[in-house]
Amino acid sequence: MDFETSKHSCRIDVGLAGLTAEQLQAARTEAARQRISLRETVLKLGLVTEKELLTAVAQRAGIDFLNIAPEDIAPDALKAVSANIATHYNIVPLRIADDALWVATADPFNQNLKNELELVLDNSHRIYFVLATSEAITKAIRKSYGVGAATVEKMVSDEDVQEPGAHKQDLVEESKAREASVIKLVNQLLADAISDGATDIHIEPYENDIKVRYRVDGVLHDAGIPNTIRYFRDGITSRIKIISALDIAEKRLPQDGRAQVNLAGHKFDLRISILPTRYGEAVNIRILPQSTLISDLPALGMTEDVVKKLTKLIFRPHGIVLVTGPSGSGKTTTLYTCMNLLLTHTENKILTIEDPVEYDMPGIVQMQVHPEIGFTFARALRSMLRHDPDIMLVGEIRDLETAETAIRTALTGHLVFSTLHTNDAASAVTRLLDMGIEPYLVASSVEAILAQRLVRVICPNCKEPHEPDPEVATAVRSLTGLDELPTTYRGRGCSKCRFTGFHGRTAITELLVLSDRIRELTISRRHANEIDAQARREGMTSLMLSGLDKTHSGVTTYEEVLRATKGTVLME
Ligand SMILES: [Zn+2]
Repeated sequence: MDFETSKHSCRIDVGLAGLTAEQLQAARTEAARQRISLRETVLKLGLVTEKELLTAVAQRAGIDFLNIAPEDIAPDALKAVSANIATHYNIVPLRIADDALWVATADPFNQNLKNELELVLDNSHRIYFVLATSEAITKAIRKSYGVGAATVEKMVSDEDVQEPGAHKQDLVEESKAREASVIKLVNQLLADAISDGATDIHIEPYENDIKVRYRVDGVLHDAGIPNTIRYFRDGITSRIKIISALDIAEKRLPQDGRAQVNLAGHKFDLRISILPTRYGEAVNIRILPQSTLISDLPALGMTEDVVKKLTKLIFRPHGIVLVTGPSGSGKTTTLYTCMNLLLTHTENKILTIEDPVEYDMPGIVQMQVHPEIGFTFARALRSMLRHDPDIMLVGEIRDLETAETAIRTALTGHLVFSTLHTNDAASAVTRLLDMGIEPYLVASSVEAILAQRLVRVICPNCKEPHEPDPEVATAVRSLTGLDELPTTYRGRGCSKCRFTGFHGRTAITELLVLSDRIRELTISRRHANEIDAQARREGMTSLMLSGLDKTHSGVTTYEEVLRATKGTVLME
């Protein structure tokens, strides 16, 4: 199968794919005149099609001719070959077996390809070939490595042919062409990230390199963009600054901007943040879908019980409802969903103060804090009261002043929503006390605390039953009291989920409603563990158990629940 052993089979000669001696002679002459390869010439002259030529070679050399389906490409093989090597040699890595790397090529006549590839891959693998048409290979590269591979490649080759001393007109033309390519590249980058379901794009400059990463379902992935993109990083940064109305000339100060793009009929808001780093400007693009954001509480992944209790709480006339969890745990989406519920079911006046305003919500008055000019959460809250709102959303309670103002507001007949950074619901109570709030104020104002995390959902396309790790299974048994655990699943990994085994996210939650007993425990400054235990006795499902339920119903995995609840206890 290795065509090195059959070099003579990979030659274009009389009889191959029905080529006649006369045709071949003519092709040789033409190839010499144009200084291009014989392969290219026979294809250009239309003597055979590429498919005919390659099928004939495959037959003669005893190697496979492939159409390259997504499942032909294994992730470990993809990792072994960078996008720029694949683009440069026009090859697709397919699989690694017995230390050999199988790659698809459209040019088996290039006798140096094998040696060169082994060399650029640091002799990590022996190389074996299968054949596929150039078109199939280009398509597969694009699909596997994503975006821009082709554009970047073209831009690099434009660079290569740039002649020194070209006259001015050419330079103008050339810079226009370059600009158009950069625009195309940035568009491709956005389209690719969005179609991957990314929430963020990170462009990070290093000394001799640039890294482009997407955050998908809360986890960062390399975007697989050719390294040669580094030649265009200034152009890319400028283009991003232009679409977000930022100052192109300013490269020493951080800048924040926003933009809006349309893709396949959907509007997306972009929040752009630029940071000057040692090696150039780092760009972060937050992608906020406008149309798909607002759903309802069950769609966020909350159980029927939590939805029922939470809905009852948010229609109360006053008090504080807190959502807690680390950054990226979906707190904002939950709060906006609550606001949307209130907006559609009541005539209440809603004001928000946020850092930053993440989603535009028609019908709600939204403000953004500017601490650098003294416009803080606390000050905004006090000013808001003069507008006589019914409901207020305070982005985050970070300090005593904000906490006190929020509590005073709640006690004077307003409903206040906010977030806190704590690991579980019960700790939010003690956090407020630690900030210096009097226990009776916490006990009389806070109505409920929702702690939440996001876990990744198993990809439905490659879901399969999976035996859990024995140690984890033992811990789950003792935690749930179940003797026999239900079947659990995992995603094997496929091209639909970028070989992660996951697609999308869902929330796991614990909702602590302050009962009389819990208010008493708060007033007597009891430990968070005691409050937590009492809440469970009163029927609260903990974050961990909520996650285990989701695992047992086949939505996610034990590992994912452990990852998301890190910091809360599994072994108790
Ligand atoms: Zn999958």
